[in-house]
Amino acid sequence: MKIERVSAWRLDLPLHKPYWLSGGRLRFERLDSTLVRIDTDADVSGWGEGCPWGVTYLPAFGKGIRAGLAELAPLLLGKDPRQADVINRVMDLALPGHPYVKSALDIACWDIAAQAAGLPLCEALGAREPEPVPIASSVSTGTPDEMLAEVQRFRDLGYRVHSAKVGADVKLDIARINHLAANELDGEIIFYDVNRAWLPREAITVMNSVDGLGSWFEQPCETLDEIAQVRRQTSYPIGVDEGLHTMQDLLRIQRDGIAELVNIKLNRVGGLTKARRMRDFCLETGITMLIMDTGGSVIADTAVAHFAQTIPAPSCLGVWSCQDMVACDPAPGAGARNVDGCLSAPVQPGLGVAPELDRLGKPALVYE
Ligand code: MG
Repeated sequence: MKIERVSAWRLDLPLHKPYWLSGGRLRFERLDSTLVRIDTDADVSGWGEGCPWGVTYLPAFGKGIRAGLAELAPLLLGKDPRQADVINRVMDLALPGHPYVKSALDIACWDIAAQAAGLPLCEALGAREPEPVPIASSVSTGTPDEMLAEVQRFRDLGYRVHSAKVGADVKLDIARINHLAANELDGEIIFYDVNRAWLPREAITVMNSVDGLGSWFEQPCETLDEIAQVRRQTSYPIGVDEGLHTMQDLLRIQRDGIAELVNIKLNRVGGLTKARRMRDFCLETGITMLIMDTGGSVIADTAVAHFAQTIPAPSCLGVWSCQDMVACDPAPGAGARNVDGCLSAPVQPGLGVAPELDRLGKPALVYE
C-alpha cells in the first residue's frame, strides 16, 4: 500500500464562549484547526486533526501545522502508511522537533493501518479496555462561585471529573480551591490545573495551605526544574502537562520523581506513535495518565478516545472532549460523543469517523 495524496483543510473552531486559563492571563475565543486526509492506492483513506489551543498555550500554532505539512507531506508520497515507525523516522529526519506538525499525519496513517487490518483503532493499538473513559471538564478561571457554577453545568452533562483552572493569585486560588473542594460530591474528582501560572514560592504556599484534597495539582509551574523544587516541598501528587513534549521529558519526570501523573496530549507529543511509547513507559513505571488533545473537533476527540481506551482504568483517569466547547462540528452525530460523562471508542474499523466533505469546502493544501 502506498500514499498517493495528502490533503489538508483549515477549520475555524469558534468557542461557545470566551475561555480563560493560567489564572486568567491567557484568553481564548477561537481555535485554528487543520484536518488532514491521506489517500492510498488501495482505496483506503485516513483522517487526522491537528489543533493547537490558540497560539499562547504551547509553542505551537495553526499556521505552523500547515507550513510544516508543506515540508513533510511530499516526502510521504509513495510510503506505506501502515508502517508508522518508518513514517515517523522520515518525518523526524526531514524536520527535527515540531511534533505538533506531525500528529495529524501520524493519526491518519494509523486510521489507514487499522482499517487495513479490519480493526477499530484502539484494537490496532493493542487493546480495548471494557469501560468507557471519563471525560474531564475544563473549568475556566473565575471567582469561586463562578467556577462552582461551571462545575455544576458540567455535572448536568454527566461529568464526574473536573479540571479547575487556577493560578496567578495566591489568596484567591486558596479560596477557589477550598470552595470547590467543600462542594465536591461523592465519587467526583476535582483537580487543579495551574497551566504554568505559579512561581515555586506561590505553588508551595497554596499547596501547603489547602487540606484534605483527594486529588492533585497539574503543571503548577513553567519548567520541570521549578516543578521539581515544588515536589520536594509539598505532599500533594503533581501532574505534568505542558512540560511533557518528548520521551526524554518523560524519562526525566520518572527518574527525578517530579510527578505522579502526566497528561499525554496527542498533538503536543507528535501523534499516536510517540504517545504509545509514552503510554507503555508510564504503565511500566506506575505513572498515572490523562489522555487528551490540545484542541479540535470530534476527529481529534475520537483519536483520543481510541488511545485512552487502550489503557486500564486505574492508570487512565480521564480524557477531554474539546468538541463540547466549540461551535462547529464537521461530522455531526459521528465519532466519540459524550454519553453520561464518558467517551467510548467507535467499533468500526479505523478511527470510525470522517468529516463530511461538504462542510469543509476546498482543501487548503493538496500534495500528490
Ligand atoms: Mg492541563
